[in-house]
Amino acid sequence: MDESPFWEKELETFPTEQLRALQLRRLRRVTELCERSPYYRQTFREANFESSQLKTLDDLRRIPFLTKEDLRASGPFNFLAVPQDEIVRVHSTSGTTGVATPIFHTGEDIEAWANLVARCMYMVGMRRSDVFQNTMGYGLFTGGLGFHYGAERVGAMTIPAGAGNSRRQIRLMQDFGTTCLHIIPSYALYLGTVFQEMGLNPAADTQLRLAFIGAEPHTERMRERIEELYGIKAYNSYGLTEMSGPGVAFECPEKQGMHLWEDSFVAEIVDPASGERVAEGEEGELVLTALHRRGMPLLRYRTRDLTAAIPGACACGRSHLRIARIKGRTDDMFVIKGVNVFPMQVEKVLLSILGVGSNYRIVLETVEMQDRMKLMVEVTGGLWKGDVQELSRLRDRLVEGLREEIMITPRVELVEPGSLPRSEGKAARVEDLRRNH
Ligand code: AMP
Ligand code: ZN
Repeated sequence: MDESPFWEKELETFPTEQLRALQLRRLRRVTELCERSPYYRQTFREANFESSQLKTLDDLRRIPFLTKEDLRASGPFNFLAVPQDEIVRVHSTSGTTGVATPIFHTGEDIEAWANLVARCMYMVGMRRSDVFQNTMGYGLFTGGLGFHYGAERVGAMTIPAGAGNSRRQIRLMQDFGTTCLHIIPSYALYLGTVFQEMGLNPAADTQLRLAFIGAEPHTERMRERIEELYGIKAYNSYGLTEMSGPGVAFECPEKQGMHLWEDSFVAEIVDPASGERVAEGEEGELVLTALHRRGMPLLRYRTRDLTAAIPGACACGRSHLRIARIKGRTDDMFVIKGVNVFPMQVEKVLLSILGVGSNYRIVLETVEMQDRMKLMVEVTGGLWKGDVQELSRLRDRLVEGLREEIMITPRVELVEPGSLPRSEGKAARVEDLRRNH
C-alpha cells in the first residue's frame, strides 16, 4: 500500500505536548458546556468547581467521578447540555450489568463519532475499494450504526447485515465478496461451525481479509483462532455506549495494544478501590472523559473495564496512548473458594488446548453445601465423534491447565458442539447458581 496509512496524519501523530495542549483546550470547552446541564451544574457547585478554574489537565481531578449508578439515578435528561431539539439520536447500553442507560447525540456528535470509527478502520487498512459487512445488531446497540457510519465515511460498500441469521451472513459474504467484517469474537467462532455445516471453508471460500472484533472481552488466543479460521487479520476494537460506542480505542497494525484517541478522550487508569491513579503500566480501571461530545458530555466516567497503559512509543508512528487488551470488567470477576477468577483466565487455558471447540460456559453452583465451579466445554466435531479415551485425556489436560492458572480444580464437562446456549450479542460466560449469590 503506497498511500498514507493515516486517516488524519497530523492529529494521529501529534507530538505529546501538542496533544496535551489540545486536550486542555477541549476539556475547557466541554466543562463549560457541562455547566449547562442540570447534573453538572449541581455537581460542580457541590465540588466548588467552575470551568474557568481549569488551568491544567490535572485540574480535571477536581471533578468527581461519574459512575453507572450516578447516570441511572439522575436520569439521562439531566445530563443534556443542549436543548432537546438538538438531539438527533439515542443509543443505549446493552444492559449486561442491569438496566440499559440511554445516551443522547447531536448531529455533530454523530459526525465526530463516525470520524473516529473511520480513523480506526482506515488505520488497519480498510479502504474505499473494500466491501464491509456489519454482523453487529442494528438498533440501540452502538456496534451496528456506529460502525456503519464509520465505514460509509471511509467509502467502503457497506452491508448492514445485522446480527444473527448465520447462513444468510455467509451467503451475503459470498454474493457481495465481503472483504472486511465487524464481528463479536464469540460469534466469529460459532459462525465458523456454520461454514463447516454448509460444506464451506471460511478461508478459501470467501474474499475476507480483515475483521474488527470487539464488544466483549477476549484473549489473544481467541484472536489467533479467528485469524487462522478465516485466514485474515483481526483487530481488537474497544468502546462503550457511554463514550458513544466503538471508536474509543483500536489496535493498530503493530498489534501491541490499542490506541486510545486522546484528541477525543482523556484517559485515566485508577485503582478501582481507592480511585487513585495507578503508576504507569499498572493495571487499573479505565476512567474516560469525552472531549468531543456536545449533547450529553460525560466527565470522568468509571468504565469498570480493567486495562493498563502501555509505556513507550508505538512503531506505527501514532502518538496516542496505548492500552492493553481489556482483561474484563471489575464486576466480571467472581470469587470461588476464596480465589478471584476472571473469565478470561479460563478462556486463555481453554483455547490453548487442542480439541476445544467454539463455546464454553462457566457454571458456579453449590453442591452439598460446597461451592463448585463447573466448566462446560464444547469440543470439536471430530473429537466428539471420535475415541472416548481422547475425550478423557482432553478433560485431564483442561483440569490440569486450569489448576495451574487459577489454582482451583473445576469439574470439567465436555459437551457436543453446538449444545451450549449462545447469544447473538455479547457472550454470557458465567452462570452463578450458588446459594447466597
Ligand atoms: P456496551 O456499551 O453495552 O456496548 O458495552 C460496552 C462494554 O463492552 C465495555 O465497557 C466493555 O466492558 C465491553 N467491551 C467492548 N469492547 C471490548 C473489547 N474490545 N474488549 C473487551 N471488552 C469490550
Ligand atoms: Zn500503533
